Amino acid sequence: MKQPSQIRNIAIIAHVDHGKTTLVDAMLKQSRIFRENQQVAERVMDSNELERERGITILSKNTAIEYKGIKINIVDTPGHADFGGEVERVMNMVDGVLLLVDAVEGPMPQTRFVLRKALERGHKAIVVVNKIDRPNARPDEVVNETFDLFVDLGATDEQADFSVIYASAIKGWAGTEPDRLADTLEPLFERIVADLPAPDVDPSGPTQLQATLMGYDEYKGKIVIGRLNSGTIRRNQNVLWMRADGTSQPLKVAQVFTHRGLNRIEVEEAAAGDIIALTGLGDVGIGDTIADPDDPRPLPPIKVEEPTLRVT
Ligand code: GDP
Repeated sequence: MKQPSQIRNIAIIAHVDHGKTTLVDAMLKQSRIFRENQQVAERVMDSNELERERGITILSKNTAIEYKGIKINIVDTPGHADFGGEVERVMNMVDGVLLLVDAVEGPMPQTRFVLRKALERGHKAIVVVNKIDRPNARPDEVVNETFDLFVDLGATDEQADFSVIYASAIKGWAGTEPDRLADTLEPLFERIVADLPAPDVDPSGPTQLQATLMGYDEYKGKIVIGRLNSGTIRRNQNVLWMRADGTSQPLKVAQVFTHRGLNRIEVEEAAAGDIIALTGLGDVGIGDTIADPDDPRPLPPIKVEEPTLRVT
């Protein structure tokens, strides 16, 4: 199990087509946690078919990579429509974001929408100027436009003082200068680990997790996804289900899953700071707290909007 300092939970946010899927693919490929023979051609964020095969369907797809002993959980965010305030909920699980911006197009409406949510939540961002290989790339202007957007959205001085990584996701290259890229994404991995904070959690406290995203598995039923805020959680553990209306009920966790590469893997026990998936929790709803029956501490409820189609 990882210490919180060995974990980074991040969301990649971007306007549609700016290269989120391609970047996550490249990060996975380079993080060397794949089995030697694993098909890396499988598109990560578009893995619906794969999930159907496994009988798992979740709204936001999570991925985890490992870089120099640090586990980086990557949480996907909806591309161009936000169902039920999902972007806001994802922001509750992560501690920083990669804001991906196309080096030709610059910031677009969805860039503004998702960045606003990240800034409101107090997150720091690394700006990734992607598609730097395009002949008409205009990286300096795009960085300036992105800076103006931060200011326009009321970013704090610290948030506006973002670092920039230039990248070609398609080639798997990145660098800190637009005309000098390494032929790996290492400069990006270095930035994530150095710039974005580890989760601020209590490893020795009582079990506490907020149900943030829901998944469904044909065989296992509902899957509750969230970041473990405090303590540990293990297979078959007795927990207290605390609802927003103040009522509570004892429950038993069935299985505990963490993420590795594209896969969700079952573990005996998970530690504070990690993004995990739990089965066996019946009717637990978004925003409810899973707590230690001997020391139950509810988390403040999160706003759940009615599913709406937001076209921006
Ligand atoms: P998403 O909608 O943000 O997930 O975007 P995708 O990853 O699907 O990429 C959208 C399109 O941009 C695809 O045709 C990609 O091949 C292309 N693309 C992604 N990254 C790069 C890049 O670094 N350079 C160039 N030239 N094209 C890219």
